[in-house]
Order: sequence, then structure tokens, then C-alpha cells
Amino acid sequence: MADRFFLNEMPDFVEETTECDGDSLMKLLCLPYPTISERFKRAALDLKETIVMETRGLGGRGAKDFTLYTGALGTAHLLFKAYQLTNNKNDLNLCSEIVKACDSASRGSGYVTFICGRAGVCALGAVAAKHADNERLLNYYLTQFKEIKLPKDLPNELLYGRAGFLWACSFINKHIGKGTVPSSRIRAVVSETIKEGRRLSNKGSCPLMYEWHGKKYWGAAHGLAGIMHVLMDMELKPDELEDVKGTLRYMINNRFPSGNYPSSEGSEADNLMHWCHGAPGIALTLVKAVEVFGGEFLQAAADAGEVVWNRGLLKRVGICHGVSGNAYVFLSLYRLTGNVEFLYRAKAFACFLLDRAHSLISAGEMHGGDRPYSLFEGIGGMAYLFLDMIEPSEARFPAYEL
Ligand SMILES: [Zn+2]
Repeated sequence: MADRFFLNEMPDFVEETTECDGDSLMKLLCLPYPTISERFKRAALDLKETIVMETRGLGGRGAKDFTLYTGALGTAHLLFKAYQLTNNKNDLNLCSEIVKACDSASRGSGYVTFICGRAGVCALGAVAAKHADNERLLNYYLTQFKEIKLPKDLPNELLYGRAGFLWACSFINKHIGKGTVPSSRIRAVVSETIKEGRRLSNKGSCPLMYEWHGKKYWGAAHGLAGIMHVLMDMELKPDELEDVKGTLRYMINNRFPSGNYPSSEGSEADNLMHWCHGAPGIALTLVKAVEVFGGEFLQAAADAGEVVWNRGLLKRVGICHGVSGNAYVFLSLYRLTGNVEFLYRAKAFACFLLDRAHSLISAGEMHGGDRPYSLFEGIGGMAYLFLDMIEPSEARFPAYEL
């Protein structure tokens, strides 16, 4: 399956120095962090301008994609990230303007999650309004959020299901204040999620299991990793915490000999190395597990990082199933451990993109995404990663790590 990824020929570690030989990529890898950080910042701000120009109309009346995943809300999220780093009010204003267009476009949408639904629009709208000190708008979006109704037959995964709604609740409570979304509302959804997981579990082996379109997925986008990741941010009862822990143990015990993880229960195809399916998304969940449960999951998190280093230099640019998303595995491990080898690996993947993404995409050797300016599939994700490289210990995978 070597055709899915570029062989990673970058050294396992490179000392920073001002004198360095080698090709342009090698020279980037040697640069002292403050210098390379400035390069990432410049590249990110340039990309942001292009992305805004190319995607601005998406939330409006013309095109219909308001989502964070491939649409206009993704651009708004990128602008909010840029505002957080540079304090440039123009970015915040433009973010609010785009969310407003997404608000009209998503009215009546039956989708309820942060990444693909109306919850993302209301949550980001509220948080941007708070930063703009616009109380009227803040109350408007919080009221809209309150009015989101969850259908009874909602799936449980992150992109379209309960986990994706819960993530929006956590985002609001983190940025606006604890209890903004009341714990009673969150608890009802958590209880439903746990109940569903227990119902579908294979008694005795895995305590929680879920289905999406008839398949028992394991990855971050549609499966166990994403649901467990969100549940670990909730206030869980002791027996629920045990079930989450048991589910993670089950996954680790049943991973492939290579260190990668199946995309769904029983699958023997060891080929996907994405945030959505495979070790990268699961690595982020295992990092979270170390934060919540302690050292038991540290080795498994590091093992997942190792396989991403070897096979994660994908021939795609995005964060859902591309190099940009896989770089976050190392940022997350760095935040957890403070180990500079992980920071180097994040820098290596990001430098690979900085040095080569443009020419590889132009030459057709790297896929730039079906929606090429989007946050999850396109260069929007690369711009977001470059912004996160400026303060790597504060980096968070967008719409996934809180
Ligand atoms: Zn994907």
C-alpha cells in the first residue's frame, strides 16, 4: 500500500542550527524554532487570504455548503484561530460575518453536530460574539443552540451523531463558561450514548460498541475513537468511566501487528492511516486517555505515533485524511509529554508541506481535496496546522481536541 503515502525519508531527529547543508526541506528542518515559526505564520496568513477569497460565497445563497468540514464554517473557524493568535479584529469580524451567512444557510438543517451540522454554526457564532463583546448576538446564538432538537434515531458518532453534538456543548462551555449549556442537557445525551453503546457491545469483550450505516467503525470520524474522545470530556459515572477504559483496552489489544488500527470491527485491511480511519485519530484519543486515566495508555499512544511517522506522510494534504491531520498526532504527543522529539516530528510533517505541498499538488502527485480550500479536506487544514505550529504546546486538532 506504499502508493497511499510518500516514503518518509526525513531523519528521525535533526538538531536545530543556523548552518545546514542539504536540500530545501533539510534546510527547513534545521532552522531554529523561532525562525521556522515565523515562516509558518507567514505561509498561514497568505493561505488564509486565498481561502477566504475562494470560499466566502459558500454559506450564502449561491452554493449551499455551510459545514465546518468542507464549507464556509471551516473558513470561519480558520479565521477565529488566526484571530486568537494575532488578535487581528478584522479576522474576528470576518469570522462573524461568515457565521451569519452559515446561520441562514443552515436553518432547517436536520444535522446537529459541530463539524457537519447546525450546532457548529451556533457554537462558533456564540464564541465569536463573546470575543466581539456583542451580548445581543451571543444570546441570539445561544438561544438558537438551545432550540436544536436531537432526533430519536440519531447515530452516535462524531460527524453526524450525538458525539458531535456533545462536542459543540463542550466547546461552548470551554469558551463561554461552565454551565452555559446546562449539565442536565448534556447528561441526557451522554446517558443515551452510553445506553446505545452497551446495547450493541459484544458482551464480555468490548463494553461499548456503535454502528454507523451498518458498520462498527473504530476511527475518529464515525467510530469508537471519536465517541470515546468526546465522552472523556464529560462528567461520567464510575461504571461509565470503566466502560470507556475497557473499550480503549479492547481496541489496543486488537490492533494490527503493524501498530495500526482497523477502520471497523473485524476488518483485516491494514491500509488506512488517517484521522478519520486508523491510528492517527486513535492516537489523539489515547493521548486524551492518558490525561484522564493516567500512564496506562501512554505506551499505546506512543506506539500509534510511531506508525504514523512511518506511514503517515500521505499523498493528501487535508486534516481528515492527509498529512496536515497526521501532524497533529505529534503535536498532541508533544503537548502531553514535553518531549522535543515529538515536536520535531510535527515540524517535519509541517515542513514537508511548507516545502512541497504546492508543487506536489500542482504536479498531481498529491491530492489537494475534492473541496480544495476546505478545512477538513483541503489547504484550509494546512493553514490551520501552520497557525498551530506557532505555539505548538497550545495546538489542538480543530473541532476534535478541546
Ligand atoms: Zn477522512
